[in-house]
Amino acid sequence: MTKTDRRKFIQLSAAAAAGVVVAPSRKAAAQDMPQLTEDDPMAQAMKYVHDAGSVDAASRPNPAPEQACSNCALIQGADGDAWRPCQIFPGKLVNANGWCSVWAPKA
Ligand code: SF4
Repeated sequence: MTKTDRRKFIQLSAAAAAGVVVAPSRKAAAQDMPQLTEDDPMAQAMKYVHDAGSVDAASRPNPAPEQACSNCALIQGADGDAWRPCQIFPGKLVNANGWCSVWAPKA
């Protein structure tokens, strides 16, 4: 092993030890995340439900008429997916037809 090879090996080893090198297969895809359940303590705190139609409109903190995860500013992932990531519930998927009290209109 040349001096240059040794230096490169040491740099790569240090980067890997620091977690800088991440294999693409280890990145979590949205499809691998579990679905948020309505009885999850965080979901209950935010009054999350899978079906926005089950929420009495008068009880919503925001008066906007059309409210569902699919048209919320905090939804992530791809339009059309039935279950999508949400900024409020990291690591879990919410139902595109769902709703929670944090709903906010897209700008
Ligand atoms: Fe749905 Fe928006 Fe609440 Fe996330 S913040 S659960 S996208 S309504």
